[in-house]
Amino acid sequence: MAIAGAGLSGLCLAQYLMRAGIDVHVYERDPGPFVRRQGYRIILDRYGLEALRESLPRSLHNLALATGDEPGGHLRFTDSRLRDAFTITFKDEPHATRQVDRLTLRSILQSGLHGRIHYGKDAVAVDGGDPTRPRLLFSDGGAAAASVVVGADGVGSALRAQIMPDADPTKTTMAGIYGRSPLRRNGESIIPDALRTSGVLAIADRPGRAFFFTSMRFGESPPEAFARLAPGSYAPTGDDYVMWGLLLRQEEVPIGIRGDLLALWRLASGMSMDFHPVVRRLVGTAELDATVLNLFATGQRPRRWAVPRATMMGDAVHVMPPFGAHGGNTALRDAALLGHKLVEARATGAPVEEAIANYQDEMVSYAFRAVDTADRLMRRLTGGAAAPHWVLTRVLPRLHRVTVPEA
Ligand SMILES: Cc1cc2nc3c(=O)[nH]c(=O)nc-3n(C[C@H](O)[C@H](O)[C@H](O)COP(=O)(O)OP(=O)(O)OC[C@H]3O[C@@H](n4cnc5c(N)ncnc54)[C@H](O)[C@@H]3O)c2cc1C
Repeated sequence: MAIAGAGLSGLCLAQYLMRAGIDVHVYERDPGPFVRRQGYRIILDRYGLEALRESLPRSLHNLALATGDEPGGHLRFTDSRLRDAFTITFKDEPHATRQVDRLTLRSILQSGLHGRIHYGKDAVAVDGGDPTRPRLLFSDGGAAAASVVVGADGVGSALRAQIMPDADPTKTTMAGIYGRSPLRRNGESIIPDALRTSGVLAIADRPGRAFFFTSMRFGESPPEAFARLAPGSYAPTGDDYVMWGLLLRQEEVPIGIRGDLLALWRLASGMSMDFHPVVRRLVGTAELDATVLNLFATGQRPRRWAVPRATMMGDAVHVMPPFGAHGGNTALRDAALLGHKLVEARATGAPVEEAIANYQDEMVSYAFRAVDTADRLMRRLTGGAAAPHWVLTRVLPRLHRVTVPEA
């Protein structure tokens, strides 16, 4: 089995297949495991958590839960001065939703795959000449033959045009400049007590702009938990942090600064000026090298799978705007489902092609429900329609007391 991409879904599938005794190799374009900092956190819902439980050895699954943030908490929708419009409360149950650090999760997913992840391998195409033994081709001229090739190479997938020729994602009008700031400064939390367990989406006075932030507090410290449950694996330092994102229109991000972290941070800083002082403080204390620009896009339902014994998972198929926290969860769910179908086919002797087709049918159905939901949420919260914006920023906040004093 050959997987292109050592992201969340590629690694999760590799873990699933390894546990079932299937020979699997992952080919990753990055030159090493931790070259990009992208230090954000991700909220796992019941699908993501269930996929990890099914795919990982018990000790690694326990490690993911042990290092995660405490269960429960809230997501508050507010105006730019952090006055509540409405709040969603998450279930206070360890297996309902959990916030985890993405780098820590990636490190957990890599544990035990020694010798099976090959870095610096830029997948460019699949050679389907032999329909029972496709080959994954690399930009360095190399190739890897396998019984099945899986494209898990993320939103910019190089394999998509060949495997799903009619399903290029469409651009949206929105983007996010994401950053990370230490949770504590001089021993004091930068987040006021009233928001300790809350994520916040603060909607700006003008439509098409919002600011998101949430704190990530590690449960058990990663170095200690890794030493106990995955000795020898790389353990991130585990300093608590706040992840934030300024949401703006893509046309507001000049093309020339899109790869320039300092210029992106400056843009985010300038555009946060009208928000509550807590927001301005967060941007002001950001760790520059964790800045990321994300141009939101929306995947299109594939109607044709063009290469036998080649399929795809995750953002490569169904990228979605980061509203509702479905992208990574759906990617993990794909991995566990595809793993299950392939292992089942091996046990029953059913054709591999049939297992792949069943996976694709099921995946497209749930994944594009999630894409539609995320797209709708984005339009509702950041769209230009005057009435919803007016209700969110003018009517509902008036009904609540001030959440966070500005002093
Ligand atoms: C700021 C932010 C916050 C988010 N928060 C959440 C959240 O709370 N909950 C949630 O569920 N989701 C969240 N997401 C979405 C989530 O991160 C993605 O949906 C998820 O990472 C997709 O996993 P994947 O395996 O498809 O791709 P990725 O994790 O992106 O992995 C793709 C991998 O493929 C590699 N690659 C790319 N091209 C090639 C190539 N040609 N050859 C070989 N390798 C290649 C890449 O280097 C990468 O390692 C968030 C996203 C962002 C940007």
